[in-house]
Amino acid sequence: MSILTVRNVNKNFGGLAALSEVNLEVEEGSVHAIIGPNGAGKSTLLNCFVGRLDPDTGTVDFDGVSLLGLKPHQINQAGVSRVFQTPEIFGDLTLVENVMIPAFAKRDGAFKLSAWPAVRGEADIYQKAMDTLSDLGLAKYAQVTAGQLSRGDKRRLELAMCLVQEPKLLLLDEPTAGMARADTNRTIDLLKTIAGRGITMVVIEHDMHVVFSLADKISVLAQGTIIAEDLPEKIKGNPKVQEAYLGGAHL
Ligand code: ADP
Ligand code: MG
Repeated sequence: MSILTVRNVNKNFGGLAALSEVNLEVEEGSVHAIIGPNGAGKSTLLNCFVGRLDPDTGTVDFDGVSLLGLKPHQINQAGVSRVFQTPEIFGDLTLVENVMIPAFAKRDGAFKLSAWPAVRGEADIYQKAMDTLSDLGLAKYAQVTAGQLSRGDKRRLELAMCLVQEPKLLLLDEPTAGMARADTNRTIDLLKTIAGRGITMVVIEHDMHVVFSLADKISVLAQGTIIAEDLPEKIKGNPKVQEAYLGGAHL
């Protein structure tokens, strides 16, 4: 069964067609990778799933409900969590505080930092945040300010900020970008564990080692169009995919 269904989505920026007639079906419980050269429209597509951008035309349905016109926090409360391409964390707050905020956002709707002093003492949310940090091996840094973390740990923190929301669908935009190989492998293992719990994932990723380690299915986006969609072992040999990647990333 498809948990995310995208039909005929178009998105233009001025004269540029960033997305052209994009169709996508993400199977519930699967890891679906979206790959493609820089500027292909991958982040734009993800932005259409979380209410940051509205498609010009087309439909996006999640769990049987249209996401179009919903605000980001409504989509989030419906069960969609997202890791951005650049870490979006609160550098001056501790890790546990960083994880508490999305937990409040899931429960209460859009979260304003001005509400923080009033809610920061809530024990059940604190415990939930601590449990999530433990789950990701970050408990020892719970009281450290997030700005001090290494890049790899920041990305793990972001995962904790998603997982505390117990999402049905997790969207990841280049989760291993800028990571050294050891951190990348740790992240792959973590994402495999998360997938093993039945959370559906859409992963945008440049690193083919990551893609082929994780994905059940791969869609290839080039110049705003899905040019191929297949099982990982079949994507490598697809001539259209090889052409799109010529001179760019390596398959
Ligand atoms: P990818 O994530 O695959 O690298 P993007 O979705 O970021 O690609 O970008 C797709 C195309 O749309 C690029 O040509 C980019 O410059 C353009 N683009 C993305 N966001 C905007 C925006 N907000 N305004 C204008 N152009 C944009
Ligand atoms: Mg991008």
